[in-house]
Amino acid sequence: MLPARHPPPVDAARADAPSRALVVPLAANRLGNRLLEALAPQDWRHWCALLTHVELPRREVLYESGASIAHAYFPTTALVSLEYVTDSGGTAEIALVGPEGVVGVPLFMGAGSTLGRAVVQIGGHAFRMPAANIRNEFERSPAVMHLLLRYTQALITHMAQTAVCNRHHPIDQQLCRWLLLGQDRQPGNELSVTQEQIAQMLGVRREGVTEAALALQAAGLIRYHRGHIAVLDRAGLERRCCECYGVVRREFDRLLPQAAAR
Ligand SMILES: [Zn+2]
Repeated sequence: MLPARHPPPVDAARADAPSRALVVPLAANRLGNRLLEALAPQDWRHWCALLTHVELPRREVLYESGASIAHAYFPTTALVSLEYVTDSGGTAEIALVGPEGVVGVPLFMGAGSTLGRAVVQIGGHAFRMPAANIRNEFERSPAVMHLLLRYTQALITHMAQTAVCNRHHPIDQQLCRWLLLGQDRQPGNELSVTQEQIAQMLGVRREGVTEAALALQAAGLIRYHRGHIAVLDRAGLERRCCECYGVVRREFDRLLPQAAAR
């Protein structure tokens, strides 16, 4: 079925909000998400009626593998993992989405679902738009289409580099990559994430993550304490990391408008 050319009224657009998300008033500005910040003023005015500001708790599943995706999410402070779950229940993160991007790319690429799921890794806030609206907006505005396509190209690079990294680089360098990507997408130098979460994201045993974290801590690069990892020496972490972090970072910087100053 072709998407409707005109978005539904605001009330209808918000009527299908999932119950688990705490809905709070729409923020007066869009600061916090790089894609929203890049919208032209006329597009942003139009989007204000379509977006809802929501709080996403940690471990919230935004969509499951194979299930229809109800909303696109533009995180501002939340950090979301796109991950694959194997038949035996093992998981591996394919990409990390934060305030630089959007969760729900399959919606505007012509698919209503995907063979992966999206899980909130670090709780926070996001703007949410119903599936039908993001499809309409992709077709309505050439500027929106180009912006979302460029983001998708950067995301494809991110996914490809994740596959290469997981196959060719040791766990301590994979951990460096994840910490740097995570820190880029969070304020401050601390990430609220457990070693168990990291093990699930990297698709490795927890003991391997513990060993890698201890090595990075012994080198003075990070400090781990009760579910919090503080990056103490970012430059040192970048030197220790494989090329994968730099490849992904440069591609996002090349394809997306620069983030507004925070
Ligand atoms: Zn790597």
